[in-house]
Amino acid sequence: MAKITVLKFGGTSMGDEHTWKKVLDIVDRYERPWVVVSATARTTRRLIAAAEAAVARPDQARDIAEEVETRHRNLVAGFMESYAQGDTPSGREQEREDCGGRLDRLSGVLRGHLDAIHEAGNLDHRTRDAVASIGERLSSWLLASCARAACMNARWVDARRIIRTDDRFGSASPDLAYIRSAVSDLLECWPTGAIPVMGGYYGETAEGDITTLGFEGSDYTASLVGASLPCEAVEIWTDVSGVYTCDPRVVEGARPIPSLSFREATELAWFGAKVLHPSTLKPASGRNLPVHVKNIFEPDAPGTRIGAESGPDGLVKAMAYKDRSALLTVTSSSTLMGYNFLSTVFAALRERRLPVDVVTTTEASVSVALDDEPLLEKLAEDLQELGEVGLRRGLGVIGLVGCAPSRQQELLERMLHALGDLDLETLSYSRAKRTLNLVLEAEQTVEAVRRLHAGLFET
Ligand code: ADP
Ligand code: MG
Repeated sequence: MAKITVLKFGGTSMGDEHTWKKVLDIVDRYERPWVVVSATARTTRRLIAAAEAAVARPDQARDIAEEVETRHRNLVAGFMESYAQGDTPSGREQEREDCGGRLDRLSGVLRGHLDAIHEAGNLDHRTRDAVASIGERLSSWLLASCARAACMNARWVDARRIIRTDDRFGSASPDLAYIRSAVSDLLECWPTGAIPVMGGYYGETAEGDITTLGFEGSDYTASLVGASLPCEAVEIWTDVSGVYTCDPRVVEGARPIPSLSFREATELAWFGAKVLHPSTLKPASGRNLPVHVKNIFEPDAPGTRIGAESGPDGLVKAMAYKDRSALLTVTSSSTLMGYNFLSTVFAALRERRLPVDVVTTTEASVSVALDDEPLLEKLAEDLQELGEVGLRRGLGVIGLVGCAPSRQQELLERMLHALGDLDLETLSYSRAKRTLNLVLEAEQTVEAVRRLHAGLFET
């Protein structure tokens, strides 16, 4: 039997009935597809807005809930009107009714949560995840139904049946062994030829609470499922033709990269390339499973292939950036040896689960750039027992990946030349990891990104 291809479609691909049709046409090209979808465009954000509003503004929360419901109702009606064909009219009518029933049920669940939030007077992490998951629970179920109305043999899979996680609500960690065995149980009794359609982003704890895998988590779901299957490749279908040299919305001259290594792609995602969730490549690289990034609007464009091997060396392969970073600098009061000092600082970061983007050290001091968040104030206070602590906010971080070791000098020279009069806070280059990371003022980050792109990629 042919191997399975996992196809993940993001929010923009799930935007309206016309993109749903494009999605189904793409699915139709594969011999054994397994479909993972995000919520429809904007839905997750609106659901979270509703949950937050419910605390003090229940009317507003209900309005948002209604807006989400109506948008889905219209989408299904539009799809049935334009694209449901073949089969018997009664079969289509059945799907239409089932969609209505599903929408009623999940809208009821949503309203129940919103009322409970209002009564409690606050929004806890557990309820937030339960509400946030509704977007994927809806979109996947409705897409499977629309596919059947368009004569495809699709079947909904509830992600809760497969994606077992811990209870870190908001960014839960998956239980890989459980997922593998759940997927194989499911395949064993799966009807021949039926196409699984499941929602990404959410899962469930052993206690039965719904969790989410973090922002953009559907990419991660696709890779988790792919790594648990006899799978050929995972394909991330989105609105751009692959991973670009930089975010094409920010840099006009950005262009798609034919191939990247798992490591390079992870690094890029980590440094803010929104096209992939940073954890996506972990399960795939463990099994050497290629991940392709492709465009639903240009399905025949080659896109980007991410695998064990990178493509041929240029000066540098790609760059990404974040513009909400902070720089924490601790200067030892010299009572501790260098390694003790560093391990104490990093233990404090670990305890608070704060991942670090860039590190620079000397014997007596260390600076770490990391995402800015309220927690940092308290951390800075706690670290004062080690020495002098500085916390600078309002910074940005730029990551360049795939820097050719043989062209180090040229790269550094051209980088400085491109930056011109923009000031750097810190700079870290690793020949072994082929990365170059820059920290600078947040306000100058986008300008720096554009200048660097022009100076390093466009000449
Ligand atoms: P989806 O809804 O399909 O998950 P996303 O919006 O999450 O889509 O990701 C696609 C978007 O990621 C693109 O429209 C693009 O603006 C942005 N992006 C940021 N960095 C990159 C990059 N290096 N390559 C391609 N796209 C990028
Ligand atoms: Mg995405």
